[in-house]
Amino acid sequence: MIACRGCGKTDLIRVLDLGKTPAADHFPRVAEPVCAEEMSHSLAMELCRACGLAQLADDDTIADEPRGVEPQALRDQAGDAIERVAAAGWLRGDSVFEFGSPHGGTWIPLLAARGYTPVKSAPDVVLDCFGIMHEKDQRAAFDTRSQLIRPGGVLLLQYHSLMTIVRQGQWNALRHGHFAYYSLTALMRLLGEVGLRVATAWEFDLYGGTVLLAAVRENVHHDDVVDRILATEEEFGITDPEVISDLQRRADLHVEELRSWLESESSGGRSVFGYGAASRAVALFSRAGLDARLLAAVADASPAKHRRRMPGTDIPIISPAELLAANPDRVLLTVPDLLAEVAARYPELDGRWQVDGQ
Ligand SMILES: [Zn+2]
Repeated sequence: MIACRGCGKTDLIRVLDLGKTPAADHFPRVAEPVCAEEMSHSLAMELCRACGLAQLADDDTIADEPRGVEPQALRDQAGDAIERVAAAGWLRGDSVFEFGSPHGGTWIPLLAARGYTPVKSAPDVVLDCFGIMHEKDQRAAFDTRSQLIRPGGVLLLQYHSLMTIVRQGQWNALRHGHFAYYSLTALMRLLGEVGLRVATAWEFDLYGGTVLLAAVRENVHHDDVVDRILATEEEFGITDPEVISDLQRRADLHVEELRSWLESESSGGRSVFGYGAASRAVALFSRAGLDARLLAAVADASPAKHRRRMPGTDIPIISPAELLAANPDRVLLTVPDLLAEVAARYPELDGRWQVDGQ
């Protein structure tokens, strides 16, 4: 990429390079052999040294992000978020427009319950919950949101924090179709460019650390919460390429550890299956060069994925019933957050779970 998606300047530096990977949301049929084209999509993150926006370097995949089932955690957080915004007096007016996310989930019913009417122009409240990260042209997307708000209205923008991604080594947050990874530091600048000022923010544990901010067109000074987040980001070095590129080390280590654990299980004669044909496992499995010899199959609750395989590998996706019938020695759980749920649902697998990355 030549120019920053946020500020248009050309001072970009690569901070994470996962090489050629499969598209994360295309699960080929199990009979379809792995081909070179399938593995041909570059996946890398760049950081803009001018505005501090971390971004997807390039994306030659076709967006195919399925509207997933909204997890309960996301619904609970939405209710909590609206409560906190209302209590702080930031729910203005009585009309709302929402920029949706392909991940599903909407806050409209929560606002309708508070008397809000959805409108297409000049809303008092503009909602964006994990929506804007899916926009290729970030500058244009910020401008669209700013232009839409009625004078005196408010933008409520929720995002997975880059601080969380880097601090917790969440390198597989980097995905095709996810064009931007935000710090509050970068957002202050990018929103400022389109005439919006950040007034306050709320933090949530969702995805390890999610921030919701309120931005307005009038001249406000931000509050102590914003000051505290900005100070934490500065101390951490959130706009420093060397700091962000710790993600590369974490990615390489994760791949090596998974590969060597699977090799040792295999040489010990133990059968290993996976649970969770998640998009986040796609780059991990392909980078680790896994195949059905090391990981016999991956079970997934979604019938749409059955009789398909993990992209870039010959590992088939099976149903949970088939997993139980196979009676594996170990089960690699690709989505750590699911442990309590699957452990309760499949007591037969007690003592066999191996949580990925732990
Ligand atoms: Zn920039």
